[in-house]
Amino acid sequence: MTDTLDSFAALALPPYLLSALAEVGYETPSPIQAACIPHLLAGRDLLGEAQTGTGKTAAFALPILARLDLADKRPQALVLAPTRELAIQVAEAFQKYAHQMPGFHVLPIYGGQSMVIQLRALARGAQVIVGTPGRVMDHLERKSLNLDHLKTLVLDEADEMLRMGFIDDVEWILEHTPATRQTALFSATMPEPIRRIASRYLRDPEQVKIRAATTTVAAIKQKYWKVSGADKLEALTRMLEVEEDFEAAIVFVRTKTATVELADKLEARGYEAAALNGDMTQGLREQVIERLKNGSLDIVVATDVAARGLDVPRISHVINYDIPYDTEAYVHRIGRTGRAGRTGVAILFVSPREMRMLKTIERATRQPIEPVALPTRGEVAERRVQQFRQQVLDTLAEENLDFFYDVVRRMENEDGLATRQIAAALAFLAQRERPLQPEGLDEPAPSVPRAAPARSKRAVVPAPSLAPAERKPRSMPAAGRDFDAAPRLRYRIEVGRNQGALPKEIVGAIANEGGIDGRLIGQIDLFDDYSTVELPELPPQVLETLKRTRVRHLPLKIRPAKPGEGERTFKRKTASSPPRRKAR
Ligand code: AMP
Repeated sequence: MTDTLDSFAALALPPYLLSALAEVGYETPSPIQAACIPHLLAGRDLLGEAQTGTGKTAAFALPILARLDLADKRPQALVLAPTRELAIQVAEAFQKYAHQMPGFHVLPIYGGQSMVIQLRALARGAQVIVGTPGRVMDHLERKSLNLDHLKTLVLDEADEMLRMGFIDDVEWILEHTPATRQTALFSATMPEPIRRIASRYLRDPEQVKIRAATTTVAAIKQKYWKVSGADKLEALTRMLEVEEDFEAAIVFVRTKTATVELADKLEARGYEAAALNGDMTQGLREQVIERLKNGSLDIVVATDVAARGLDVPRISHVINYDIPYDTEAYVHRIGRTGRAGRTGVAILFVSPREMRMLKTIERATRQPIEPVALPTRGEVAERRVQQFRQQVLDTLAEENLDFFYDVVRRMENEDGLATRQIAAALAFLAQRERPLQPEGLDEPAPSVPRAAPARSKRAVVPAPSLAPAERKPRSMPAAGRDFDAAPRLRYRIEVGRNQGALPKEIVGAIANEGGIDGRLIGQIDLFDDYSTVELPELPPQVLETLKRTRVRHLPLKIRPAKPGEGERTFKRKTASSPPRRKAR
């Protein structure tokens, strides 16, 4: 899909959506948006093979919004999503794009949220409902949700819904919506059960797929960092500090707004950074590129469009701060480095939800992308000490220090100090603005091997003139770490083998409804009429939610297992390798 339409206006979206998109800073439609929006606007059914990160949410949200009747408060569109986090995210996206649509209401409904609140909100009316299958079914059964006037149904991340055991619920919902509805199904993969659903419930669908052209990218060292713990800005600055052979970087983000925001933040941290986006005049853009070429800028934060054709041999690093929409964009981006026969480095930031896109890129470029860990406090400190030592050596070599030798000599004689004491105090004073031992940078144990920091030809060193508040190293959120390390307890749930429960469904339900990271769910043992699950100690609220959570239509009634319960005399199946997923 190279033939990306250049503007949203060309997609015949109404003006109130175009101005909302301009507000959020989207420059051009992503390939999946360019391909889907015209069909969905025309009322066609659609089968989209696309993963997170491609911009698929806007691909279905924009045409839904364009076709809404705002005077009618009854549900006109329903989006089914596998997790409550995704449901909330999708609802937020609708809200953002509908910014200029007074009277528009979107309602996320998911398990774990109070029924009373949901019932009240449903009674008030919403044109768009975004929900997880279980809770949507609940409301349909209670008749608190009426879909008789539904125009569009979207199945988002259908393969995830399958993996989490929700596909029967999805079919049930499909059966309980008007046959005249428009249906769009999005899935990163197309396993057989999803194809079956598509052929059964979609009418002559348009098929849209992100093309994965294979290319080679020889001179570029590719790495990725799985976004976790520290925020991306913190990660970026730490990486820039320890990267070897750094000369200049181009940092890719998705929106015009983000180019400006990130460039500002980098500047505030002392980097020579500037934004490059399609809103800037040609003259301004040329200026930025010229400054990058002549070395007065080290970092340019750009959108794909603005960086098209950029040829600056100084660019040693490409940072994919936001993941590109497809492999073609990735190859194009990283091609900004490794130019004129030099080698380059490309670093990709990938959120856990975008890992599939990473695999697609690896397949398309036929090269593995190496995981990297975030530099630790020790590594950052080591690099700063190296730079400090180099500054001292340079000063000794280049400056006339006669006056200062006198000052030191006087301190030795008159204050009775040793030279080493004086030097240490001076080192302390010299680093106050930019501490040699950065605080608060510690990380959980690295999950990937970390290369020893090498001496760099040059590192981007923030200028020392920063306001102290901006420099203050941020501390890492520790909650996730504590939870990770927490001992597991054994809980009993009231569904087992006889009820047909599968470990993946149990993992899905607990992760989804309890908001628990799937990786924290330990061994699951299935018995005839109950099962046991190893979990971190559950807070009372989560316990209450999970008591009511259903698997195979039965409430789990979860409680701590008693001694003897869950002993593995007739163990059937464990979750040692269940389809683990991170709760979203
Ligand atoms: P999705 O694949 O729908 O989860 O979207 C991934 C991210 O891309 C979200 O943060 C969106 O806000 C962003 N995004 C989607 N479409 C565009 C676009 N046309 N331009 C810039 N950013 C976009």
